[in-house]
Amino acid sequence: MITIQLKPKKEESLQRFHPWLFSGAIQRIDGNPAEGELVEIVDNNKNFLALGHFQIGSIAVRVVSFEKVLIDDNFWNRKIQLAYSMRKSLGLVVTNQNDTYRLIHGEGDTLPGLIVDVYGDTAVMQAHSIGMHEIRQTLAQAIVDNVSEVKNVYYKSETTLPFKAAIEPEDGYLIGSETTQLCAIENGLKFHVDWLRGQKTGFFVDQRENRTLLERYSKGKSVLNMFCYTGGFSVYALRGGAKLVHSVDSSAKAIDLTNKNVEANFPNESLHQSFDEDAFKYLNNLHTLEQKYDVIILDPPAFAKHREALRNALKGYKRLNTKAFEQIKPGGILFTFSCSQVVSKEQFRLAVFSAAAESKRHVRILHQLSQPADHPISIYHPEGEYLKGLVLWVE
Ligand code: SAH
Repeated sequence: MITIQLKPKKEESLQRFHPWLFSGAIQRIDGNPAEGELVEIVDNNKNFLALGHFQIGSIAVRVVSFEKVLIDDNFWNRKIQLAYSMRKSLGLVVTNQNDTYRLIHGEGDTLPGLIVDVYGDTAVMQAHSIGMHEIRQTLAQAIVDNVSEVKNVYYKSETTLPFKAAIEPEDGYLIGSETTQLCAIENGLKFHVDWLRGQKTGFFVDQRENRTLLERYSKGKSVLNMFCYTGGFSVYALRGGAKLVHSVDSSAKAIDLTNKNVEANFPNESLHQSFDEDAFKYLNNLHTLEQKYDVIILDPPAFAKHREALRNALKGYKRLNTKAFEQIKPGGILFTFSCSQVVSKEQFRLAVFSAAAESKRHVRILHQLSQPADHPISIYHPEGEYLKGLVLWVE
C-alpha cells in the first residue's frame, strides 16, 4: 500500500479523529496513487495514523480507519451493519408510518464520501469520492445483505463526483431494478420520490422533524412555503390545519411535484396554491397586509458550496431574511434554514440577526433546529452539522 508521510506537527487533527487529510499537510507520497486508491498515512516519524481513500484536491485523503486493519469486503459490510443497527435501535428504520430515512451519512457514519437514503425497498446511493465510487458494487451488496427491506440499490453519482476525475460514472441500478413504488411515506404522509430525475437522492429526508414542528404551529394560519421543491412543508402545514398554504419555487418541475404531493394527501384541496416564481420577486410583490403571511418557511438551496463563496452566501441569507421579516405579519413565525456546510451555526445566526436589525422587527428565537438522528454528526467532524434552522417569533 502506498504511504503518505506528513510534515512535522501535521498529525494533530488526525490524532483527534478528524477524517480529512488536507494536501498542504503532506511531506511526501511514496509512490503514485491512483485516485480512489487506499493509502496509509504516517506522521513525520513514520508512525501509523490512518487508512483512507486518496483523491486529487484540497482534501487529499478521506479516512476510513484509524486502526491498521484489513480493508476488505468484510470491513465495508461491518460499517453498513453498524449504521443500520444504530438506526434500528433508534426506531428510525422502515415502519408503516415512515419508510424513508438516511442509512449512511458520510463522515457521521465513518464513511466519508458516501450518502445512502432508503425509500421503502430501494436504497439510493451517492458517491462524493472516487474511493467510494470504486467500491460501489461491494457497498450495494453490503446494503442488501444487512438491510432486510432493501431489494434494489440505485446509484446516482453523475453529478456528485468531481468532473475532473478520469471516470465516467453512470447512474443506474447496481442491484435489482425499478420498482413501481416511487413513493415515500413520511410520518404517514405520501410523497412522490423521483430518484432518477429529482434533486439529491430524490427527497429531503433531513427536514422530517422540522416539518413536524411546522405542523404543530400551522393551525388557523396562512403559510408561505418558499423554495418548496417537493412541497414537504406545505403538506404538513395542511395537515396541521392551516387556513391557506402558498408554495413557491422557481422550478416548474418542483411546482408540479408539490401539486402532485398535495393532491396525493389532500385530494381536491382548495386551501393550497403554488407559484412558479423567483423567491425574491415573490416577496417583493406582497404590498398589502392581507397579502402577508402568519408563517413563512425559508429553505433555500445551499448558497455556498465552497469556502470562497462564503461572503456572498452570508449576504444572500441576510437579504432573503430581511425580505421575510418585512413581509411577515405581526405575531408571525419564521422558519429559516441554511443547508450550506461551509456556513457555521454562528455565522448563519449572525446573518439572520443582521436581517432582523435591518427590518427593525422585534424578534425572539423559539427553536434552534438541526438535522435528525439519521444524519448523525461525528463529534470530531463539526463540519458535518450542515443543516441549521431558527424558528423565530416576529412581533
Ligand atoms: N424545502 C424543500 C427543499 C428545498 S431545495 C424540502 O423541504 O424538500 C431548494 C429549492 O429551491 C429547489 O427546489 C429550487 O428549485 C428552489 N430555488 C432555487 N433558487 C430559487 C429562487 N431564486 N427562487 C425560488 N426557488 C428557488
